[in-house]
Amino acid sequence: MGKPMSEEMHEGARASTLDLPRAELEELAQVFCRMAVDYFAAAEALPVFPDTSAEKVAELFRTPLPEEGTGLETLARACAEVVRASRQNGHPRMFGYVASPATPVGAFASLLASALNSNVTSWRSAPAPTEVERTVVGWLAELIGFKGGGVNESCGGLLTSGGSMANLNALFVAHRRHARAGGRDLSRAGLWDAGAPATLYASDQVHLSIPKAADILGLGREQVRGVPSDESFRIDLRLLRERVEADERAGLRPFCVVASAGTVSTGAVDPLRELASFARGRGLWLHVDGAYGALAACAPSKRALFDGLAEADSVSLDPHKWLYTPLGAGCLLFRDLAEAGAAYAGTEEGYIKVFERATDEAFAFWDYGAELSRPFRALKVWAALSYYGARRVAAAIEDDCALAAYMAGRVAASEDFELLAPPTLGICCFRYVPAEPRRELEAAADEEERRLVNSRLDRLNERVMLRVQRGGRAYVSNASLRGRFALRASITNFRTTRRDIDLTLEVVRRAARDLENE
Ligand SMILES: *Cc1c(COP(=O)(O)O)cnc(C)c1O
Repeated sequence: MGKPMSEEMHEGARASTLDLPRAELEELAQVFCRMAVDYFAAAEALPVFPDTSAEKVAELFRTPLPEEGTGLETLARACAEVVRASRQNGHPRMFGYVASPATPVGAFASLLASALNSNVTSWRSAPAPTEVERTVVGWLAELIGFKGGGVNESCGGLLTSGGSMANLNALFVAHRRHARAGGRDLSRAGLWDAGAPATLYASDQVHLSIPKAADILGLGREQVRGVPSDESFRIDLRLLRERVEADERAGLRPFCVVASAGTVSTGAVDPLRELASFARGRGLWLHVDGAYGALAACAPSKRALFDGLAEADSVSLDPHKWLYTPLGAGCLLFRDLAEAGAAYAGTEEGYIKVFERATDEAFAFWDYGAELSRPFRALKVWAALSYYGARRVAAAIEDDCALAAYMAGRVAASEDFELLAPPTLGICCFRYVPAEPRRELEAAADEEERRLVNSRLDRLNERVMLRVQRGGRAYVSNASLRGRFALRASITNFRTTRRDIDLTLEVVRRAARDLENE
């Protein structure tokens, strides 16, 4: 104490260092790796949802800022509490939302990426991580058929925190291109010029991140035109055409179509080839929101659904959903990465400049997205794809889809469940319909009678869902399909088996019968 800082530094030690001696490092590694290994080895050890409450969780963690360190033992105990009081996304019967388990390889790669702590802004800042990310982006494009075999060989993109940020970036680039084409001075007008509103089009099943992005970009969410979907929840092409033409006649400026490649409610895939030719014919940007579903294109039995994907201008996909990558890992692909460069450069001149200096060592991700400092997201994706290989990952996705089809089959064949949407990818939407309302629905004289029975069923199924969620043996969430309450099981989990599906349907049935008997 008391020595000037420079002198201490000179001696090669400083009192304030946060470094740890080798033995302590080994101990840390032991404790944290052991916890992760135990977690991976016993995926069903804990209930899917913890038997706890907000008060109990607050009691555990709302502690004062520690003035002095607690030491490893206390920290490890607290971490074990964190694990116990979490929802278990790795549990084989976690079917809510789109929740995936992390692969062990991805998780350990995340640890290494954190230790290295690269700032992946550009090649100069992080040579290998930049190359790994650009390679991973290419692999992802190839996996989903957006690139390869002579198609879109010069496509590019970047990893994002998730699908919402990928969608936001895509719409920004699409709108900038539209503004450039209209000859607006972007340096003055920005996005808020006073011209007629720029409009974009998507089915009524579109993910909420799209209207949100329109709001953030200053376009306004009302400029996202919701086009009705057909009985299998795919966009109605005729209504899309009519809507665009009506808006053009009204003097508005349509600039983009957003296709859903896997809607979040039912997994429906819009007709991509038809949308691509429609968009091309009208000079509209085609963005495909594949955050949930695009990776299913690597499952051989699902590939045909994604026919036309390669014609899109941009595609979002989420490795943290269907590549079982630890959160957060989204990806945005551009058919022509220079379009993104132009959007961020802001001018036609910039467009050319970025394009010309696109040598590898001058490459910077900030030329194509909003972030400056960026974590090394690519390592966890790269490590898992390297370790398992694309074939094995595709087989896992294929099996997830087969399980959703199996579940739908069990639902359709049962007396007391009703299937509410075709299981296109990995999602099964259904509801519990016991004998009496089933008879009432069949005998209903008119729409009003049916509506009354349906709203009773909505309330019953909502209570069933909450009871299942609280029970901790399985977890389903819900979707609103044409105003009806659906129980929704989404399977993006390499641990789930047919036994888990059977058990889950039994858990749902039991919850429903218990409610009926109360
Ligand atoms: C999940 C999802 C998003 C948003 O992705 P995040 O990674 O959660 O930000 C967007 N679109 C669809 C269709 C999704 O399923």
